[in-house]
Amino acid sequence: MRKIKVENKIVEIDGDEMTRIMWKMVKDKLLNPFLDMDLEYYDLHISKRDETDDQITRDAAEAIKKYRVGVKCATITPDKSRVDEYNLKQMWKSPNGTIRAMLDGTVFRSPILVKNVRPAVRTWTRPIVIGRHAYGDVYKNAELAIPGPGKAEIIFTPANGGEIQRMTVQEFDGPGVLQGIHNLDSSIRSFAKACFTFAYDQKIDLWFSVKDTISKTYDARFKEIFSDEYEQNWREKFEEANLTYFFTLIDDAVARVMKSEGGFLWACKNYDGDVMSDMVASAFGSLAMMTSVLVSPHGYFEYEAAHGTVQRHYYKYLAGEKTSTNPTAIIFAWTGCLKKRGELDGTPDVVEFAKKLEESTIKTIESGIMTGDMARIAEPKPESPVGTEEFIDAIASQLKR
Ligand code: NAP
Ligand code: MG
Repeated sequence: MRKIKVENKIVEIDGDEMTRIMWKMVKDKLLNPFLDMDLEYYDLHISKRDETDDQITRDAAEAIKKYRVGVKCATITPDKSRVDEYNLKQMWKSPNGTIRAMLDGTVFRSPILVKNVRPAVRTWTRPIVIGRHAYGDVYKNAELAIPGPGKAEIIFTPANGGEIQRMTVQEFDGPGVLQGIHNLDSSIRSFAKACFTFAYDQKIDLWFSVKDTISKTYDARFKEIFSDEYEQNWREKFEEANLTYFFTLIDDAVARVMKSEGGFLWACKNYDGDVMSDMVASAFGSLAMMTSVLVSPHGYFEYEAAHGTVQRHYYKYLAGEKTSTNPTAIIFAWTGCLKKRGELDGTPDVVEFAKKLEESTIKTIESGIMTGDMARIAEPKPESPVGTEEFIDAIASQLKR
């Protein structure tokens, strides 16, 4: 069989534990037999990051800037126990955080739907994609415990002179707590650009929600910047493509989401996105059916599975036990990146292959062949779940058909 040629380079970022094992299986059985790919490989295995003082992570991000499309395996973000486990020089930062900061990107998470797993919300028939602003607010706050009576103020001192701004937050007459948060116009603008870019790219509506009725300066700024970005750069394109930009209050958005059919991007502020993405993911079924893409406002794309390295399964695998870990989100990370590469290169056969691989994966699950996580929630339940390798083999034979 003649292999399909992928014209330009894809940045491949390898990772850790169970996802690293599945990564190789997916490449060996579902990609390499069919595709002639030129991969720019970066190994972000925790020991490689340690060996290079994390330079390898920064190099991988630079490579995505150069080639525009990358695909990433899940990686360990070390904590104290990992430092001991791998004898690390230090507690290296999250690679995802480093790459996201270097690409100035926004993460979009979307669920993969199959007919035999019904979402917990009956009306949801199409994916709800969540875009989370990943800068500032309560994640970069200053907090104080207030011991007793006193006055709390916020003060802004301009760097180049000018008038000092000052406001009373509260006159405390007893103990309490105090918090200062901020955000940046530039970061909100990047977030808005990434959301409009993604929604337009996927041809789905964009919903955005804040609480500007209560937060008349802070949240209102988010609304203003989104609205300005829309009017300046997107209104025409959206109208031509029959897409809607819809702004509403966060509580109204939540109520509408629960009654919607899905099929839109919901752009959320940092905290809303943190909370809502976990709710939406669990209502759609399994974390192993959730894909994620990092979109930068400069047009770089990095695809990955939303889940981690599945450490618990990896230890079972190392002990020689049969594992039934679900590789679906990893497969879709690859198809997402192949579709984007094919689209940028103008190679429809690559896009077509990626779609066939997605269809084969979904058909395999819908035919009752699935891993343990899915078997627990599928209707009807399969007689028994299959192992990771058997599942991938079943997809490969479906794909060959
Ligand atoms: P995790 O790897 O997402 O796994 C949590 C649990 O979710 C698993 O134990 C498993 O549940 C289930 N699960 C996740 N993916 C699955 C799959 N593909 N198939 C079947 N079940 C799946 O999270 P974690 O165990 O908390 O984190 C492990 C490591 O991953 C950590 O070192 C963390 O730093 C890293 N991490 C990396 C990323 C990333 O690179 N994007 C994201 C998150 C976490 P059961 O055990 O009940 O079967
Ligand atoms: Mg969360």
